[in-house]
Amino acid sequence: MKCYYHPDRDAVGVCSRCGRAVCAEDSVIIDQKLYCKECAETIKSNDFKQKRIYRSKKDRILCGVCGGIAKYLGIDPTIVRLLWVIITFGYGIGIVAYIVACIVMPIEPD
Ligand SMILES: [Zn+2]
Ligand SMILES: [Zn+2]
Repeated sequence: MKCYYHPDRDAVGVCSRCGRAVCAEDSVIIDQKLYCKECAETIKSNDFKQKRIYRSKKDRILCGVCGGIAKYLGIDPTIVRLLWVIITFGYGIGIVAYIVACIVMPIEPD
Protein backbone atom coordinates (compact mmCIF):
# COMPACT_ATOMS: atom_id res chain seq x y z
CA MET A 1 0.00 0.00 0.00
CA LYS A 2 1.41 3.39 -1.03
CA CYS A 3 0.79 6.82 0.46
CA TYR A 4 -2.05 8.82 -1.11
CA TYR A 5 0.14 11.94 -1.23
CA HIS A 6 3.46 10.27 -2.03
CA PRO A 7 3.15 7.39 -4.55
CA ASP A 8 6.79 6.49 -3.89
CA ARG A 9 6.36 6.01 -0.16
CA ASP A 10 4.88 3.12 1.79
CA ALA A 11 1.81 3.93 3.86
CA VAL A 12 1.92 3.38 7.61
CA GLY A 13 -1.84 3.44 8.08
CA VAL A 14 -5.24 4.34 6.70
CA CYS A 15 -7.13 7.50 7.63
CA SER A 16 -10.06 6.56 9.88
CA ARG A 17 -12.20 9.28 8.30
CA CYS A 18 -11.67 9.14 4.53
CA GLY A 19 -9.84 5.81 4.20
CA ARG A 20 -6.80 7.17 2.37
CA ALA A 21 -3.50 5.41 2.96
CA VAL A 22 -0.90 7.78 4.35
CA CYS A 23 2.84 7.66 5.08
CA ALA A 24 4.30 8.58 8.48
CA GLU A 25 4.79 12.18 7.39
CA ASP A 26 1.15 12.69 6.38
CA SER A 27 -0.47 10.85 9.26
CA VAL A 28 -1.82 12.70 12.27
CA ILE A 29 -2.94 10.98 15.47
CA ILE A 30 -5.96 12.54 17.16
CA ASP A 31 -7.53 10.75 20.12
CA GLN A 32 -5.52 7.61 19.35
CA LYS A 33 -6.93 7.44 15.82
CA LEU A 34 -4.95 7.95 12.66
CA TYR A 35 -6.05 10.58 10.17
CA CYS A 36 -4.61 12.00 6.97
CA LYS A 37 -3.45 15.61 7.19
CA GLU A 38 -6.54 16.92 5.36
CA CYS A 39 -8.97 15.23 7.74
CA ALA A 40 -6.85 16.31 10.70
CA GLU A 41 -7.29 19.93 9.58
CA THR A 42 -11.07 19.47 9.30
CA ILE A 43 -11.26 17.84 12.72
CA LYS A 44 -9.15 20.56 14.29
CA SER A 45 -11.30 23.33 12.79
CA ASN A 46 -14.45 21.55 14.01
CA ASP A 47 -12.91 21.36 17.46
CA PHE A 48 -12.33 25.06 17.27
CA LYS A 49 -15.97 25.75 16.51
CA GLN A 50 -17.07 23.58 19.39
CA LYS A 51 -14.62 25.22 21.74
CA ARG A 52 -16.30 25.92 25.03
CA ILE A 53 -15.51 28.47 27.63
CA TYR A 54 -14.40 27.13 30.99
CA ARG A 55 -13.19 28.60 34.20
CA SER A 56 -9.48 27.97 34.28
CA LYS A 57 -8.12 25.57 36.88
CA LYS A 58 -4.52 26.58 36.47
CA ASP A 59 -4.87 30.27 35.73
CA ARG A 60 -7.00 31.48 38.60
CA ILE A 61 -6.94 34.13 41.25
CA LEU A 62 -10.53 33.82 42.45
CA CYS A 63 -12.74 31.51 40.41
CA GLY A 64 -10.66 31.28 37.23
CA VAL A 65 -13.17 33.30 35.19
CA CYS A 66 -10.63 35.73 33.74
CA GLY A 67 -8.16 32.89 33.04
CA GLY A 68 -10.90 30.95 31.26
CA ILE A 69 -11.96 33.92 29.16
CA ALA A 70 -8.33 34.65 28.28
CA LYS A 71 -7.78 31.04 27.19
CA TYR A 72 -10.96 31.10 25.12
CA LEU A 73 -9.96 34.32 23.37
CA GLY A 74 -6.29 33.34 23.18
CA ILE A 75 -5.09 36.46 24.99
CA ASP A 76 -3.10 37.17 28.15
CA PRO A 77 -5.14 36.63 31.36
CA THR A 78 -3.63 39.82 32.78
CA ILE A 79 -5.35 41.86 30.05
CA VAL A 80 -8.71 40.29 30.90
CA ARG A 81 -8.16 40.94 34.62
CA LEU A 82 -7.16 44.50 33.92
CA LEU A 83 -10.28 45.10 31.81
CA TRP A 84 -12.38 43.46 34.48
CA VAL A 85 -10.94 45.71 37.17
CA ILE A 86 -11.59 48.78 35.00
CA ILE A 87 -15.21 47.67 34.49
CA THR A 88 -15.59 46.97 38.22
CA PHE A 89 -14.30 50.36 39.31
CA GLY A 90 -15.70 52.31 36.38
CA TYR A 91 -19.19 50.91 36.23
CA GLY A 92 -19.54 48.72 39.29
CA ILE A 93 -20.97 45.85 37.24
CA GLY A 94 -17.71 43.93 36.97
CA ILE A 95 -18.05 42.29 40.37
CA VAL A 96 -21.66 41.26 39.65
CA ALA A 97 -20.61 39.96 36.23
CA TYR A 98 -17.78 38.02 37.87
CA ILE A 99 -20.09 36.34 40.37
CA VAL A 100 -22.55 35.48 37.58
CA ALA A 101 -19.72 34.12 35.42
CA CYS A 102 -18.50 32.10 38.39
CA ILE A 103 -21.89 30.43 38.64
CA VAL A 104 -22.66 29.91 34.95
CA MET A 105 -19.22 28.99 33.61
CA PRO A 106 -18.35 25.31 34.02
CA ILE A 107 -14.99 24.44 35.52
CA GLU A 108 -12.35 23.22 33.06
CA PRO A 109 -12.35 19.43 32.67
CA ASP A 110 -9.13 17.45 33.11
ZN1 LIG B 1 -8.55 11.46 5.74
ZN1 LIG C 1 2.99 10.74 2.23
